[in-house]
Amino acid sequence: MNPFPFDKLRANAFVYHILEFVKMLTEQELQRYKRQLMIPDWGEEGQERLKGSRVVVAGAGGLGSVVLTYLAVAGVGSIRIIDNDEVDLSNLNRQILHTDGNIGKAKVDSAREKLQALNPNVAIETVSDGIDEGNVYELVEDRLIIDALDNLEARLLLNKAALKANLPLFHGAVYGFEGRATTLIPGKTPCLRCLYKGSLSGEIPVVGATPGVIGCIQATEVIKYILGLGELLTNRLLAYDGLNMSFSEVKLKRDLNCEECQ
Ligand SMILES: [Zn+2]
Repeated sequence: MNPFPFDKLRANAFVYHILEFVKMLTEQELQRYKRQLMIPDWGEEGQERLKGSRVVVAGAGGLGSVVLTYLAVAGVGSIRIIDNDEVDLSNLNRQILHTDGNIGKAKVDSAREKLQALNPNVAIETVSDGIDEGNVYELVEDRLIIDALDNLEARLLLNKAALKANLPLFHGAVYGFEGRATTLIPGKTPCLRCLYKGSLSGEIPVVGATPGVIGCIQATEVIKYILGLGELLTNRLLAYDGLNMSFSEVKLKRDLNCEECQ
């Protein structure tokens, strides 16, 4: 079996060129995005920039459901979703793009269905495959990378691809009532390997509202990055504690001995 659908990706690369070509906003889009166009320094130009942007969201689970939803409704023009899982009943306390009727269905298909219903104007491309050393660079291409995964091994592969292609990596992670997020930019911030040394995989406890909070922070960072607005969450890790309802910040520094971002 072909582990990676190159033909599909080529077809979608073509879609992107079309998007680039016709990224002027239609009357219908001006209406759809009216309330965000009112934000200072956003305007039609910012919305056109969103429309011409390409992102890849790794993971269509708890974090992915939220990030994907808010990037799609904001009008990010081309969204690639990677996930090789099927919807399971035990996902439904937090993975809000999936429903009871989707159990057994590929998460990427379930996610695409809801996202296209939320915003038919964005192009959704799906890859129902695991991330490995052999495919990660093709999967990422030149897209902004959103880490909505739940295992460190695959997160670190995204990190490698981000460093190699000089692309930002929007990181989020959750555990129970706690979560964290940071925006990693090669050459300007630490990389993910600088931050994580051990292994953080396996089934973790989580209440659905936590990926809700963290996924929204990641989506906000992506939108700010594309529009060039505000201060990014760079060189700092935002930690959320839902039980005590507090946010705190940890300053981040590059690990000078990091094997990945030397
Ligand atoms: Zn590093």
